[in-house]
Amino acid sequence: MDGPADRPDVVVVGAGPAGLYLLHRLRRLGLTAVVLEAADDLGGTWYRNRYPGARCDVESLQYSYSFSADLEREWDWSERFAGQPEILRYLRQVADRFDLRRDIRLGTRVVAAHYDEAVRVWRVRTSHGTTVSARYCVLATGCLSVPRWPRIPGLDGFRGPVHHTAEWPPDGVEVAGRRIGVIGTGSSAVQAVPVLAEQAGRLSVFQRTPAYSVPAHNRPLSAAERHRFTARHDEFRRQQRLSSSGMVTGYPPATRSALDVDPDERAGTFEQRWRSGSLMALMTAYTDLMTDRPANDTVAGFVRSKIHRTVRDPGVARLLCPDYPFGTRRICLDTGYYTAFNRPNVQLVDVRADPLVRATAHGLRTANREYRLDVIVVATGFDAMTGALASIDLRGRGGRSLRDEWAAGPRTYLGLAMAGFPNLFTVTGPGSPSVLSNMLVSIEQHVEWIADCLDALRRRGLTTIEATRPAVDDWVGQVDAVARGTLYPTVDSWYRGANVPGRPRVFMPYLGGVGGYRKMCDEIAAAGYRGFALSA
Ligand code: FAD
Ligand code: NAP
Repeated sequence: MDGPADRPDVVVVGAGPAGLYLLHRLRRLGLTAVVLEAADDLGGTWYRNRYPGARCDVESLQYSYSFSADLEREWDWSERFAGQPEILRYLRQVADRFDLRRDIRLGTRVVAAHYDEAVRVWRVRTSHGTTVSARYCVLATGCLSVPRWPRIPGLDGFRGPVHHTAEWPPDGVEVAGRRIGVIGTGSSAVQAVPVLAEQAGRLSVFQRTPAYSVPAHNRPLSAAERHRFTARHDEFRRQQRLSSSGMVTGYPPATRSALDVDPDERAGTFEQRWRSGSLMALMTAYTDLMTDRPANDTVAGFVRSKIHRTVRDPGVARLLCPDYPFGTRRICLDTGYYTAFNRPNVQLVDVRADPLVRATAHGLRTANREYRLDVIVVATGFDAMTGALASIDLRGRGGRSLRDEWAAGPRTYLGLAMAGFPNLFTVTGPGSPSVLSNMLVSIEQHVEWIADCLDALRRRGLTTIEATRPAVDDWVGQVDAVARGTLYPTVDSWYRGANVPGRPRVFMPYLGGVGGYRKMCDEIAAAGYRGFALSA
C-alpha cells in the first residue's frame, strides 16, 4: 500500500482522546491526516482499562471536551464521575459525530518512525510492514498506555486467569465467589477493590506502598446540576483553562500557610474539603502543603486519622496509612476503598514486610506463606509518560534515536517537541502539565497549539519546525527547577520513573500550572515560535 491515503499531511499515532480531537482539528484546517491505532478500537485509556470500578476521578463535566458547544449540548453525563463504559460510549459518539473513523486505522501499531532528511518527511512503519509518509508526525500515544507487569517468577505457571487492569478482557472476568488476589494499591486497585470485594469469595490485596485516597462522593448528576453547568458554561470552561490543574474546584486560591492557622480551624477546613469529593480540594487548601513538609504533615495526618476512623482493625488501618507526604504520589479518589477492609472476606497482605517471591500453580507465595487464589489481578500501573514513545524506534536527524537522546531522562521543549526531531510533536509529553492536570484540558490545549502551529507554517510558506537545543536545555532546567521547589521529587513515584527498574529518576511533568503554561505556549507562538527553528 502506498496510495494518496498513505501520504497525508499529518500522521497521528494513537486514537485516544488526544488523537481523536487532533484528527478533527486538522481536518477543520483543511489538512489531511491518518490516525494509526494499535488497539482494535478507539478510545485509548477508556478502551483498555475495563476493570471493575474503572471511572474517571475528575468530574465528567470537567473531564470532557469543550471544543464543540453542540457536542456538549447533545451529551448528558449520568454521574458526577462517569464509569469507563460511559466514557468509552462518549468517545465513540465523538468519533461518529465528527465522522472520524474513516481516517483511523485500527489494529495498526507504529513500530518505527524515521525522519527522511532528504525529502523532509516522516516515514512511519506499522506492525503490518506498511509505511505511511507525512511531513508532520504527532505522537498522541498516551502517558499511561503501556501497562507494566511485575517481575514475579512463575506467573505464567499460575493455573487461573491473570489479568492486568489495563488489559482487562472485553467480556469481563468471572470473579463471583472466587479467591481473588490484587497486586498493587494505586488508583486502579483502589477503584477495583471495593467492587471485587462485593463479588469475590475472598479478596487478598497485596500492598507494597499504601496510597492516599479521598472519597469521591459519586452520585447521579441531577438536572439542576446540569442546568447550572450549562448556564455558566463559557465562564466555567474559561476558568478551567486558566486554572492551575485544569479543574475548577470552587474554592478561592489559598492565601495562608497551613502552619499559620489555628489547628481547629485547619481541621474544619480539611473536613469540609474531604467531603467535597475533589482530587484537588485538600492539596490546595493552604499555600504550602506541597512545598513544606511540616505543612504537608498537617494534611497527611488528617487523612491518616480518617483511615484510622474508617478501618476497624487498628493493625490494618496502620498498614493502610502512607508515611510519605500527601499528594506527592497520585492521590486516589475512591468509593468505599477503606471500608472494603472491614469486610470479613477481604485481607490486606503487607508485601513490604513479607515480600512476594513467586507465583505458584495455586496462587502467590510471599517469603512467609502461600496465598491460594483462583484469579490474579495485576494492578501494577504503567511505563508512564515515556513508555509509549520509547517503544517506537524513533529516529530524527542523522538517524539519532530518541531512546539514546533520552537515556538520562526525557528532554523536550514544552513537552511538545524535541531538538533533532523536526516536525514531530508529542501531546501531553514529558515537560508539560500533562498527568498533573485534568488531561482533557491539557489535551485540548496541546492539540489546538499544534494545529495552529501547522496552520501558521502553511500560511507563511514554511515547511519545517524544530525545537532548538538551547530552548530544550532551558526548558528542561525550568521543569526541574519548579519541581525542586516542591515536595514531589522527595518521593519515589511514577512521575519520576521510579516504578520502572533502570529508568533515570527525573521528575517528568511540568508543575508550573496549566494556566501559566498555556499563556507561555501562546506567547511563544505569538513571538513567531520562539525557541524553534523554522524553515521553508
Ligand atoms: P490514551 O488514552 O492513552 O490513548 C493513546 C492511544 O495511543 C492508545 O489507544 C494506544 O493504543 C495508542 N498507541 C500507543 N502507542 C502506539 C503505537 N506505537 N502505535 C499505535 N498506537 C499506539 N486523566 C484525567 O485527567 N482524569 C481522569 O479521571 C483519568 N482517569 C484515568 C483512569 C485510568 C484507568 C487511566 C489509566 C488513566 C486515566 N487518566 C485520567 C489519564 C488518561 O490516560 C488521560 O486522561 C487520557 O485518556 C489520555 O488520552 P490520550 O489520547 O493522550 O492517551
Ligand atoms: P500505579 O499508581 O503505578 O500503582 C501501581 C501499584 O502496583 C502500586 O501500589 C505499586 O506499588 C504496585 N506494584 C508495582 N509492582 C509491584 C510488585 N512487583 N509487587 C507489589 N506491588 C507492586 O498504577 P495504577 O493504579 O494503574 O494508576 C496509574 C495512574 O493511572 C494513576 O496514578 C492515575 O494517574 C491513572 N489512573 C486514574 C484512575 C482514576 O481514578 N480515574 C484510575 C486508574 C488509574 P509501589 O508503589 O510500591 O511500586
